[in-house]
Amino acid sequence: MNEFDMIKHYFNTQTMHRDDVVLGIGDDAAIVNVPKDHELVVTTDTLVEGIHFPVETLPYDMGYKALAVNLSDIAAMGANPAWVTLALTLREAQSVWLQDFCSGFFTLANRSNVQLIGGDITHGPISITVQAMGLVPKGQAILRSGAKEGDLIYVTGHIGDAGLALAHLQNKTKVDTVYHPLIVNQLHRPEPRLATGLALRGLASALIDISDGLAADLGHILEQSKVGAKINVDQIPLSAALTNTLSHDEAIQLALTAGDDYELCFTIPQHQRAELEHRLASIACRYTCIGQITATLGLKLYDQNGIEFNGPTTGYKHF
Ligand code: ADP
Ligand code: MG
Repeated sequence: MNEFDMIKHYFNTQTMHRDDVVLGIGDDAAIVNVPKDHELVVTTDTLVEGIHFPVETLPYDMGYKALAVNLSDIAAMGANPAWVTLALTLREAQSVWLQDFCSGFFTLANRSNVQLIGGDITHGPISITVQAMGLVPKGQAILRSGAKEGDLIYVTGHIGDAGLALAHLQNKTKVDTVYHPLIVNQLHRPEPRLATGLALRGLASALIDISDGLAADLGHILEQSKVGAKINVDQIPLSAALTNTLSHDEAIQLALTAGDDYELCFTIPQHQRAELEHRLASIACRYTCIGQITATLGLKLYDQNGIEFNGPTTGYKHF
């Protein structure tokens, strides 16, 4: 199978088509229509075998996750995803592998109303690069830089399950079998919080997705907003899988540092609390207030008794 056969039989098979795609896969480049009153939001992320996913990861999960992490970045801008490109490096052209990879990729793409409009295929150790493009009404994207003193800090979902799953897969932590499907699913098939990101437009003062760990990613908001924060570590939403596997302190340490959760972390002005609850009421996504923005720089951790928690305030670093 040459690359043209691969494109024809696997990558150019998406059933969902968007009206704003003028020209999709097949020419030298794709053409899309950007509405006049909108801005184009562009992001890219690469997943490398052995680094971003264990070598034995299923091709379906690779396809799903490569797209999910990019859609998570689109969500973290408060944007609506529209188009993606896919640059793949593969060891060999295996039809079962390609079929499963595309199945994972297109399942999430169709569900998210996202069209694959182009890409590239090369030969080598597995590496998957997705570029996602989204739309946001002019000036309405939610940046990392808008958090103000007194703002409330929230996270979506549970924090730390993906990290727990990784520790489990690497045989570093023994997790009860009842939790295996749940946490492994959390690691391989994170749900990009697209509806929540959109609902936060005009409301959140700052927004980021948690890919490198809560402490590190909240740290980016603090740095770019030039503020600090105090977090009540006992408010961090932890799953039963996590609390029943690790000690209280270990569970919190993991939630603060482990990456790959792809939940959102955001801040809102205090007086907007009721508005937030109103807007998120119809979205099936848990959200929890974990702390508050301070004028004093840096991240301070406390427990429920107000006692300082000695925990890590940085996360996963690639270099
Ligand atoms: P070129 O040599 O002009 O870059 P290619 O032969 O690489 O063109 O690709 C032909 C067409 O197929 C282009 O439209 C390209 O965007 C698309 N394409 C290539 N690889 C992929 C892929 N993995 N997924 C989706 N589209 C792809
Ligand atoms: Mg090419």
